[in-house]
Amino acid sequence: MLKGTIVKGIGGFYYVDTEGGIYECRARGKFRKEKITPLVGDYVEISVIDESKKTGSLDEILPRKNMMIRPKVANVDQVIIVFAAVIPDINADLLDRFLVLAEMQSINAVICINKIDLDKDEKYKKYIEIYERAGYRIIAVSALESINTEELKKIFEGKITAFAGPSGVGKSSIANILNPDINAQTGDVSRKIERGKHTTRHAELMQIFENSYIVDSPGFTSLSIEDILSEELENYFPEFKPYLGGCYFTGCSHIKEPDCRVKEHVGDEIPQERYDRYLTFYDELKNVYRERKK
Ligand code: GDP
Ligand code: ZN
Repeated sequence: MLKGTIVKGIGGFYYVDTEGGIYECRARGKFRKEKITPLVGDYVEISVIDESKKTGSLDEILPRKNMMIRPKVANVDQVIIVFAAVIPDINADLLDRFLVLAEMQSINAVICINKIDLDKDEKYKKYIEIYERAGYRIIAVSALESINTEELKKIFEGKITAFAGPSGVGKSSIANILNPDINAQTGDVSRKIERGKHTTRHAELMQIFENSYIVDSPGFTSLSIEDILSEELENYFPEFKPYLGGCYFTGCSHIKEPDCRVKEHVGDEIPQERYDRYLTFYDELKNVYRERKK
């Protein structure tokens, strides 16, 4: 018996990365009977059928920690959301959408600002301040000049990390720092993400170092947060959490109501920019709902 992680699943075969290498496995019949589909990211037990051909049978799926929705991947520990300090400039609206998507799926989000070598005025520092205040881990790096890249690597250790962010920000360059074989193995992460927008594609884990994998996450390139009800949005801004339930009105939307605990803290614990984004998203979600009712 060997334990390992499913890194790829195609046409009924599961590729399981173990201490002894990667085995091509078929799942036992009991999974189909129990209507359980093994997922990429699942930690599993296999038995070897033929060592020379590296084939095996997938016997057990160990309990899942969580499941990312798009693409379906089990046990994702975190998503790293990459933006560039400049070229292209940080799109904070998009960043906040990614963060909301991560919160919705209960996946821990880490923000990475790349290309700080180009940001002579250190404009990126403003974002460090905002997102740290909101409670996020945010790291500023330069993939090109190897600034803070050792610290960045540590974030990936022992984890399954999903990659998100627009194209051109340096995701492939970062993947290349983590493991130079990655781009050679797979083309590049961002091109794969581009493709993922248009086709249903099989998710695949790419090993960067021992017990550490990355997965591209096309789900995070779709900006639609419209599946959320406007009333739920407050739950996806972690810095609001200490104040929820404390407002005078039950069901307070934290917009125009008097005696609102959230509004009281805008500008200090709650960064103004983040609150403004809450208003934008709230409005958007209300409109989606109105359109649907028509
Ligand atoms: P992706 O589309 O997100 O995968 O971005 P790439 O990794 O392909 O990078 C886009 C461009 O930015 C390439 O020309 C890279 O050489 C460049 N680039 C990536 N990281 C850095 C960096 O830290 N500093 C600078 N100056 N350029 C970078
Ligand atoms: Zn309120």
